[in-house]
Amino acid sequence: MGDISSGLSEVECDVLVIGGGTAGPMAAYKAKVKNPKARVILLEKANVKRSGAICMGMDGLNNAVIPGHSTPEQYTKEITIANDGICDQAPVYKYAERCFEIIQELDRFGIRFQKDQKGDFDVKKVHHIGTYVLPMPNGDTVKKALYRQLRRVQLLISNRFMATRLLNGRDGRIAGAIAVNTRTSEFLVVRAKAVILCLGAAGRLGLPHSGYLYGTYENAANAGDGYAMAYHAGAALANLECFQINPLIKDYNGPACAYVAGPFGGYTANNEGMRFIECDYWSGQMMLEFYRELQSGKGPVFLKLDHLANETIDEIEGILHRVERPTRGRFHTGRGTDYRHEMIEMHVSEIGFCSGHSASGVFVDEFARTTVPGLYAAGDMASVPHNYMLGAFTNGAVAGEHAIGFAAETDLAEYDPADVTAERERVLAPLKREDGVPPNQIEYKTRRLVNDYLQPPKITRKYEIAADRFAEVRDDLENAMMARDSHELMRAMEASSILDCAEMAVCASLFRTESRWGLYHHRVEFPERDNANWFCHTLLRKADDRMICEKRPVAPYIVPIADEERAAYDKQRLRRPA
Ligand SMILES: Cc1cc2nc3c(=O)[nH]c(=O)nc-3n(C[C@H](O)[C@H](O)[C@H](O)COP(=O)(O)OP(=O)(O)OC[C@H]3O[C@@H](n4cnc5c(N)ncnc54)[C@H](O)[C@@H]3O)c2cc1C
Repeated sequence: MGDISSGLSEVECDVLVIGGGTAGPMAAYKAKVKNPKARVILLEKANVKRSGAICMGMDGLNNAVIPGHSTPEQYTKEITIANDGICDQAPVYKYAERCFEIIQELDRFGIRFQKDQKGDFDVKKVHHIGTYVLPMPNGDTVKKALYRQLRRVQLLISNRFMATRLLNGRDGRIAGAIAVNTRTSEFLVVRAKAVILCLGAAGRLGLPHSGYLYGTYENAANAGDGYAMAYHAGAALANLECFQINPLIKDYNGPACAYVAGPFGGYTANNEGMRFIECDYWSGQMMLEFYRELQSGKGPVFLKLDHLANETIDEIEGILHRVERPTRGRFHTGRGTDYRHEMIEMHVSEIGFCSGHSASGVFVDEFARTTVPGLYAAGDMASVPHNYMLGAFTNGAVAGEHAIGFAAETDLAEYDPADVTAERERVLAPLKREDGVPPNQIEYKTRRLVNDYLQPPKITRKYEIAADRFAEVRDDLENAMMARDSHELMRAMEASSILDCAEMAVCASLFRTESRWGLYHHRVEFPERDNANWFCHTLLRKADDRMICEKRPVAPYIVPIADEERAAYDKQRLRRPA
């Protein structure tokens, strides 16, 4: 960790996939299977064996479109409504059409899904309208099973390389990426005909209430590097004002998880033990009702299981404490809380960017193409809304298959070597300082400011103050941040991505002068939804070294939505008879 190398290597490939969590391995696998002779590299900041949001496993598929239970049309409609209509349906529909084939493939990999006594997939209802949740009793094996497939097709894997910037070609195509080794600081330039970004959510944007930098709901390695890299490469990013805010377990910051407990009879309740929302599926409107309950004096809000039979709770614990987050049982033991005897306190999480649960991401079409030729994105950092783990797998597959076809018809783009020199200087600058501000202080300050000023409800003046404070932090980051070893250098580069994301959050939020997506974009001065002016996406990108935002019309729907269906997700609060 302490050895610092001045090395610089260059390698070439057909397709470079960055991020080896969920979407990335599937993208690389599909590209390699489609063209076994092609050179496909999977580059990962950590180790592909255990990296990403699914590193410890997953409880289930949150959005499985399974014949007999739902159709691609129903799913596309549900996600469009859940996202307040701001949805390019083509990628959602494509996902819905293909995800069953991916489930079957994952099943063959050894990741088994819950079946009923007749041997059919045992799908549960959690969403407001349709039935899409498929439990994974051996979900703890997901990463291992995936990794076995990568070994089988002899994929080239580069672990411990953190990508810091994309390389733009002189002709406007993507030319590759620049990465730095997190153990040696050695530089790697990967030239590629196509690049697929799968770097996950921006999960370290706000600061958890615990104050602990890595105590995040998201995989803590996902610092928003993908969002920052796409931005600096000139790609458009969509709907960044539609934040991710989750209902989590207080002080644990893990999902409560009503998706698992809901089908067993658990639910979200107020301090009187009363249910106040109709549906526990995460949406902006649901989070707004959660927030309102807290403000109403009926908070805190809780996960309520204490009315269930012991055997049912045993079963819930068997999933929640074993598969996805094995630390959860230990958390409850340490705190002395037991689902059988009391409700479990929940809270409103800090903000992040993530399309997996919300809608903010690098803009992509139904082939996972971004606005930069040759550059693709999939998973939590691409703009396909509410796509979760199966969306990462499926859209990763779409990206891999398309990118390998694109690569077959093109050559490597030429890039300007001065870009590599400039990036090396930027990245290595903190190592050259003998004294200064450590990255964790830069990061802490940025994220505390995010909490102070950006956490919704959004107030214009607070956002303007935040912009000024972030400019001051940037000055420290660029002129005074120091790193003592390669590990700290990684943290320094993460701090830089986090600050980029914070600035993007300000810019996108101030641009949209209405409220939409419930709490995610609740602007106090513009409390109403304004379809006349804002029924559109917002696209943010870098132009002439500045951040700009523009409107982009929502593409005509493939699946029509009747007027009376559009408000289904607005009616989240339970109405009690007078
Ligand atoms: C706690 C939790 C519970 C969840 N539960 C469920 C569930 O039950 N069901 C469900 O369907 N979905 C669930 N999800 C959502 C699902 O896990 C994600 O949507 C999905 O895994 C995202 O995949 P991804 O490939 O985009 O990101 P990830 O799998 O997180 O992969 C991103 C990868 O990029 C790497 N990386 C980041 N920056 C760099 C860089 N600069 N250079 C190189 N590599 C980099 C990271 O190390 C990581 O390996 C859950 C998510 C979380 C966090």
